[in-house]
Amino acid sequence: MDNGFFDFDKRILLAAEKAEKSAAADFGYINDVTEYNQQKVLFSFIRNAVSEADFGASTGYAYGDRGREKLDRIYAEVFGGEDALVRHSFTCGTHTLAVALYGILRPGDTMLCVTGTPYDTIHGVIGISGKSKGQGTLADLGVEYRQTELDNNGKPDFEKIAEDVKKYKPKMVYIQRSRGYSLRPSLSVDVIGRIVSCVKSICNSVVMVDNCYGEFVEKNEPLDVGADIIAGSLIKNAGGGIARSGGYIAGKKDLVELCSYRMTTPGLGREVGATFGENRNMFMGVFNAPHVVGEALKTAAFSASLFSGFDFEVTPAPGEIRHDIIQSVCLENPEKLIAFCEGMQSGAPVDSFLTPEPWDMPGYDSKVIMAAGAFIMGASIELSADAPLREPFAVWMQGGLNYHSAKAGIMLAAQKMLDKGLI
Ligand SMILES: *Cc1c(COP(=O)(O)O)cnc(C)c1O
Repeated sequence: MDNGFFDFDKRILLAAEKAEKSAAADFGYINDVTEYNQQKVLFSFIRNAVSEADFGASTGYAYGDRGREKLDRIYAEVFGGEDALVRHSFTCGTHTLAVALYGILRPGDTMLCVTGTPYDTIHGVIGISGKSKGQGTLADLGVEYRQTELDNNGKPDFEKIAEDVKKYKPKMVYIQRSRGYSLRPSLSVDVIGRIVSCVKSICNSVVMVDNCYGEFVEKNEPLDVGADIIAGSLIKNAGGGIARSGGYIAGKKDLVELCSYRMTTPGLGREVGATFGENRNMFMGVFNAPHVVGEALKTAAFSASLFSGFDFEVTPAPGEIRHDIIQSVCLENPEKLIAFCEGMQSGAPVDSFLTPEPWDMPGYDSKVIMAAGAFIMGASIELSADAPLREPFAVWMQGGLNYHSAKAGIMLAAQKMLDKGLI
């Protein structure tokens, strides 16, 4: 519908109407998952008797911060763990994942990633690329890294996983749930459960899941199907667009405790950590997270429909069940990719007047262009798009705090491409 605020071409308006109609079934499924997860979170708030007193600001050592401790319990319950650590002071997802890795792994241990090459920024932590050598990477500390490649369809290769687990007897098996900057399918919780069974039938490795972008996308989480430890970022799904920074680790009690000694120091662990009044945002964030993830999923489903209607290859395809909030669109060349990002940026609630440009982002191996006009810098639960300038010139888009606004952002991306004669 043309509401008169944006100068949408008729072609874009018609295509959007058609895309929304054809995404109706996806929306129905998404609503069902959202309702389930929203009740799960609400139930946990009620069981833990969350109250105004939990939002108080602690300073200094902050022993016995009640809100902090309650929030840990809520994350543990919601994600199916025995225990959890949730802190605004985790600076990002990479930091949180690194704390879990350093918390659990020791010199001489082997870490086996069974989902192919991990997310770019984790390379530096493990010491895969060599660029961060000497900075205290896992490799510097004598942790051996091994990797099981995905099969030709980008799916976990169960035979090879079993073979590698037998061969390396890894202390940790590492699984990445989301696709990251690749075109492989993201993993369903069900498939994660099958990997866990496969590993545990051979060897008692700790199974860790990088849960970034996966939280609340399904009714179950990896800990529900036997994973031992998960971690993720609060400026993605798990913070509901309200947490201003941070991360969480959840899982088995003894493992979470080990992580706590890396998060602060051996001896102190989780007992310290001032919250400075961030508790309210953190509680509101996890409370809103199921709904916000639902809005992001609807935005992704709409985008898949819209851009497949313009004959672009999209992953996931329209109608496909989603296992993370990411939607990729293969835009074929840098011009289309840049136009897409410019258009999306022009529809952001914050910084709409900026023009995104490709740049060398720390931790990434090629130039990246990003569209993001977010209330929280870099928050990818807000509508945003990242695109490394490399084949196949795919844009990975995600987020949308609310569907209606994000839909307009997506339509503006298409409009910009039309303006430049690219669709
Ligand atoms: C985002 C992400 C990370 C890293 O999180 P940052 O907050 O960007 O440091 C790691 N793994 C996956 C799969 C991610 O999506």
